[in-house]
Amino acid sequence: MKKILIANWKMNKLRGESVAFIENIVEQDTVDIAIVPPFLSIQQIKEYALSKNILIGSQNMSEYSHGAYTGEISATMLKDVLCDFVLLGHSERRKIFLENNDVISRKVERAVVEKMPFILCVGETLDERDLGQTEEVITHMLNEALSSLIGSHWDLVTIAYEPVWAIGTGKVATKEMIRSVHALIRDKLIEFSPEKGESIRILYGGSVKSENVKEIFSIDNVDGALVGGASLEALSFNQLINEVSV
Ligand code: PEP
Repeated sequence: MKKILIANWKMNKLRGESVAFIENIVEQDTVDIAIVPPFLSIQQIKEYALSKNILIGSQNMSEYSHGAYTGEISATMLKDVLCDFVLLGHSERRKIFLENNDVISRKVERAVVEKMPFILCVGETLDERDLGQTEEVITHMLNEALSSLIGSHWDLVTIAYEPVWAIGTGKVATKEMIRSVHALIRDKLIEFSPEKGESIRILYGGSVKSENVKEIFSIDNVDGALVGGASLEALSFNQLINEVSV
């Protein structure tokens, strides 16, 4: 399985900027590349992405199928613009928009019904880590979101371990922290699905940049990275790609 680098642009970039970025991405075939732009750029950059073999994801998705849900975007709408996957449970959605484990598990159910591949983000806060609750928090998040999945549903799943205290702060989890949480997630995935658990990608996210990406990629059970800040400029994102594709 190739590793993957995913650019999460959050609420940044107009459509023209998105196109200019994607046109400048270096081409290689060692690592898979994906971009998660704002909703309004998905359709526009998809045609460029197709020719460069880049996947396009969405930053969020409604738990509902359709109807009177002002401001929401459905899985069907995302599929209509050829979106390849969706991020669910990013810590900014959990913290700022108050999405709790119940909401996120309903979004997972929706993704499964619509056969939309998804990246489930999990991670502890600094307080939780300091209190020694990391394992408990991660296990709970996985149980809440994934315990009803069966058989081929597991083909839709990717997990991103993103310690909340490392997102956008410049603080990176240590190698040992990443190794132990990824091992915990792997064990849990194998427990859920003995057939598929070993092959599900587990990504790390939290202040990944060109200076640390190679070391992070060398850790057991790290199958890629979700990148915020360092993915906003084509130059810095290309540096990341170059670091891991040589
Ligand atoms: C993120 O938002 O998922 C993220 C990892 O951001 P940053 O790389 O800026 O820490």
